[in-house]
Amino acid sequence: MTIEVEHNEAEDIKINLALVSQQIEQLVQQSQREAGCVRLLAVSKTKPVSALEGAYSAGQRAFGENYVQEAVDKYHTLSHLTDIEWHFIGPIQSNKSRLIADTMDWVHSVDREKIARRLSEQRSADLPPLNVCIQINISGESSKSGVALSELNSMVDLITGLPNLRLRGLMAIPAPQENYAAQCAVYEPLRQAFLALSKSDSMIDTLSIGMSGDLSAAIDSGSTMVRVGTAIFGARDYSAKV
Ligand SMILES: *Cc1c(COP(=O)(O)O)cnc(C)c1O
Repeated sequence: MTIEVEHNEAEDIKINLALVSQQIEQLVQQSQREAGCVRLLAVSKTKPVSALEGAYSAGQRAFGENYVQEAVDKYHTLSHLTDIEWHFIGPIQSNKSRLIADTMDWVHSVDREKIARRLSEQRSADLPPLNVCIQINISGESSKSGVALSELNSMVDLITGLPNLRLRGLMAIPAPQENYAAQCAVYEPLRQAFLALSKSDSMIDTLSIGMSGDLSAAIDSGSTMVRVGTAIFGARDYSAKV
């Protein structure tokens, strides 16, 4: 006789969220930082709407998406859940910026002037300003995207002058490193840049670093928002995506 083990998606997600949140709080404590100072962004790219609903019913409100059309589709499907906070964290093509400006609450991946200007122009004045982070290309960056730290100041000046954007901080996606020490070394210049920036402007409160593989180094480097997908929703199946 075979026993059918019922696979309850919502229950699995709820357990994973609790585990990840607990792990984050432990790392915050080890890092001697204030309890609750690191937010969890649930990265739901490629996952079905039911997975987001499962996380929502477990209390998760901030969701991160990488693909514009998928993000917009989910935004419309879940429009009845009015307190979801939508974060766009993927590469932005300029012809897709309007879709992002119309729907998202946050964009972590602003990496060039043209995109910043378009997002501000296209953001409806009826909506709250779009919260943005500047994506920084720190050494060891796996993708080519991101602003060099040497160009950070001019990007900050540009964005703080744009009426429908609100600059909240910095984001980075470093290439995978060998170990904790190497991860911290790659984050160090970013940590310093964020510290200086947040001292100069009280609206700047977000350092978006840390994924499943480097939470400890990111939290020790001053992360205020970690972006976790797999540890919450399970492995992604890209073959299922068109
Ligand atoms: C996919 C992704 C994540 C989450 O990665 P996991 O390994 O699934 O935790 C975080 N940040 C960005 C920018 C991503 O694209």
